Amino acid sequence: MLRLTHALRDEIVRHLVAEWPNEGCGMLAGRDGTVEAVFPLRNIEIWDDLGYALYQAHPEDVLAAFQEIDDRGLEFLGTFHSHPGGGAYPSGIDVRKAMPAYPDAHYLIVGLKEHWGKGWERPGITDAEIRAFTIVDASVAEQDVLVDGVMLPKKRWWWDRPIPLIDKPSRARRRRRSTGGGRRLDTGGA
Ligand SMILES: [Zn+2]
Repeated sequence: MLRLTHALRDEIVRHLVAEWPNEGCGMLAGRDGTVEAVFPLRNIEIWDDLGYALYQAHPEDVLAAFQEIDDRGLEFLGTFHSHPGGGAYPSGIDVRKAMPAYPDAHYLIVGLKEHWGKGWERPGITDAEIRAFTIVDASVAEQDVLVDGVMLPKKRWWWDRPIPLIDKPSRARRRRRSTGGGRRLDTGGA
């Protein structure tokens, strides 16, 4: 769970909107899941060879943020970044880049997608879809985000699904169908 104030939420989204249409990124710090400090970081890797948006935080900014987190006696709680034109769900790259050294880290993702409907305009901060995840061993788990005590919606989009490494559920379904087995619910007759 991540707890934020409206002011910190707006600080995150303002940075990401300012970076749009590039991805923006930053770090979150606080105590016991409560964010007390937001560190916007410079993005030094904006596009990959295929033209997909990316982020890679400037190492100087990361070091400075960790220094301040130590100085203030805070914990590193996770990172945030934007998906300009995309939904707030971890991409395959996000899953591969998850930090095994920080299994409790939250990956707060801000989707800035709504501007597509308005033409090529910089999105406003109210356009932001904000969700948070933990990513451990390529397994994505959505986490609660509370802004001033109010839980943000966990929307379900069609691309919200784990990375399909192994198609276990459909194999199980096929097996159940082929044997015709499985428990029957006793409805007690009509
Ligand atoms: Zn991402």
